[in-house]
Amino acid sequence: MARIVGIDLGTTNSLIAYMDGKVPTIIADADGHRLVPSIVAYTPKGLQVGDTAKEQLTRHPERTVYSVKRFMGKGLSDVQDELQYFPYRLTEQAGVIQIHIGNKALTPPEISAMILKELKSRAERFFGEEIRKAVITVPAYFNDSQRQATKDAGKIAGLDVMRIVNEPTAAALAYGLQKRKQGLIAVYDLGGGTFDISILKLKGGIFEVLATNGNTHLGGDDFDRRLMEVMLEEIKTTHGTHIKKHPELAQEVRVRAEQAKCRLSSEKEVSVEVPLPEDGGTYRRVFSREAFEAMVTDLIEKTLSPTRKALVDAGLSAADVDEVVLVGGSTRMPLIRQRVEALFGKPPHCELNPDEVVALGAAVQASILAGGIQDMLLLDVTPLTLGIETMGGVMSSLVRRNTTIPTSAKEMFTTFVDGQTSVDIHILQGERELVKDNRSLARFQLKIPPLPAGVPRIEVTFMIDANGILSVTARDVRTGEAQSIDVKPSYGLSDQEVERMIHESYIFAQQDIKERQRIEAVNEAQSILRATDKALARVAETQDLTTSEEQEAIRQSAAELRQSLTGHDHRKIRQAIEALNRASSPLAERLMNHSLQDALKDKKLSQMP
Ligand code: AMP
Repeated sequence: MARIVGIDLGTTNSLIAYMDGKVPTIIADADGHRLVPSIVAYTPKGLQVGDTAKEQLTRHPERTVYSVKRFMGKGLSDVQDELQYFPYRLTEQAGVIQIHIGNKALTPPEISAMILKELKSRAERFFGEEIRKAVITVPAYFNDSQRQATKDAGKIAGLDVMRIVNEPTAAALAYGLQKRKQGLIAVYDLGGGTFDISILKLKGGIFEVLATNGNTHLGGDDFDRRLMEVMLEEIKTTHGTHIKKHPELAQEVRVRAEQAKCRLSSEKEVSVEVPLPEDGGTYRRVFSREAFEAMVTDLIEKTLSPTRKALVDAGLSAADVDEVVLVGGSTRMPLIRQRVEALFGKPPHCELNPDEVVALGAAVQASILAGGIQDMLLLDVTPLTLGIETMGGVMSSLVRRNTTIPTSAKEMFTTFVDGQTSVDIHILQGERELVKDNRSLARFQLKIPPLPAGVPRIEVTFMIDANGILSVTARDVRTGEAQSIDVKPSYGLSDQEVERMIHESYIFAQQDIKERQRIEAVNEAQSILRATDKALARVAETQDLTTSEEQEAIRQSAAELRQSLTGHDHRKIRQAIEALNRASSPLAERLMNHSLQDALKDKKLSQMP
């Protein structure tokens, strides 16, 4: 079996790891650097990645791309709120973001691929052999298109992505928590710019994501900024040096602030020195851990409310959680450890390097796939319901939200009108009853031979693989003709949108159900009316099957059913359908005997446009 590496493709930094026997291990470069900054810069020497690109960040912000992970699998309209944070230029082509860097326009997967290539060549130098297979981690809330974009990045980098794994699951694996076979695990991940909390359930060695929450713009950078603001203010008042006149000072102070913050995680007190421009002397200041903690306590508080919310969503209380895992460089701060411990009532796991746990866990997963570690499967769940459009604009669900993946589902559909020569398969995602309120993921057509309405049998299969990627197949059962599609939606969804969609499905539940019931009743009425018209035309030819009274009664019931369709009450429509069925069933039976089975047949299958 070829070697499989584990990769943490992070917002700020990326890492690559492998299994050294039974021990997951980070692969460093020749200089001993373990992290590759997730930064790509356009320089006169061409595109640079990692540490060299990071050096460009302050000098040439317009041609240095960072945080590209925020754009993976998204369209421009999805990231409007993000744009304020980025100096580089973004446009959109065919629903995919293009990032302009130097004279090039690159997609987020192309830029991520450069970071992956850097990691790949680091591993190749280390092993002295080509590396082609990898496991890559993504946040638990990543949707189909964000996962697919990550896989694409791997492909562009020349990697066969064997599995996309959720970051919190990887963190739990790094601590070997799968060995306990069952339990509830909270993964608290505070990095440089993002906060994620995930609640996992481990059962029979299988991980399931029960809930996620977080803040996409909260992290270590905010802690740095608090120190920086104090420092810049004091530099202005005591030394008269103004940042407006010396913009380069901001960068200098930012670097010193971050260093001071990191040191305060292990020291009680640090002294900071900043040489000031134009012989302005040196700014000197001592910060105590206590004073620093007072500056940032509200920021830490901002991570605890999403944590509590995730627990509520998972239907748990903090005390139910068996293990707490800390991920991300910022969790080195003692106050964070204390607050997390106080919330859960147990000390969190922090023995491993919090910057590295995700990559280490990816290596564990890689080893499981390669057969090095057996007896374990890793599963996640679908964040939103998936289904297809049926007549009248209602969604028919095939895979319910929170279904454990990989999964598959099959359902039979039929046509609505006679002689239909194709069916439209419109794939949807969302919790609402009507198509218009859900997200359209993709559509395709299946050609079918013309037959009376309700006769064709179209089998639709949804398959979601372990990476959360959906393939949909529609097959005409008679002819065996089939069409499929791998869903790779051009627009992504943020976790807030997922939340909004779920929330709205609760708010509009009653009104949605009513409308769905009305549409379904109308569809059924229309099928029955068409069948009735056909049957009446047929008996006009055969004469001796019916009396004129019977025909009149059927016509009368049909007219009443048509009348009921103008109202909004599905119950009235159902009553009228039943009345027509009562009036026409003796005739239907006689017609059946005349081998016209299809004419008045009750329509049991949902129909497709
Ligand atoms: P990550 O994105 O997980 O690599 O986390 C990076 C963040 O962790 C940055 O904001 C760092 O400043 C922060 N960080 C790294 N080491 C420490 C430390 N010892 N104490 C506090 N924050 C740290």
